Amino acid sequence: MSNYFLAVTYDICVHNDLFEDMNEYPLESAANLVDQVRKFAKQDVAPLVKVFESTSSDFTGELKLYKEFRFKDYECKCAK
Ligand SMILES: [Zn+2]
Repeated sequence: MSNYFLAVTYDICVHNDLFEDMNEYPLESAANLVDQVRKFAKQDVAPLVKVFESTSSDFTGELKLYKEFRFKDYECKCAK
């Protein structure tokens, strides 16, 4: 059984109680996961990217959190 991966970018601002998912990116594989995820984070200026794992290629089944990545460079700047 093969697994499919979906990366989701999030916009977060603790000052405005914002925690919002932005875009979803299906991954071909989990190879070079960090590099793939970093690219999405940069593109969306997302401080958080979660990667979910699914057993169905269309992600209709249950999504399981596989890994999450945080990017300090893309955190909101409102407190600064
Ligand atoms: Zn903020």
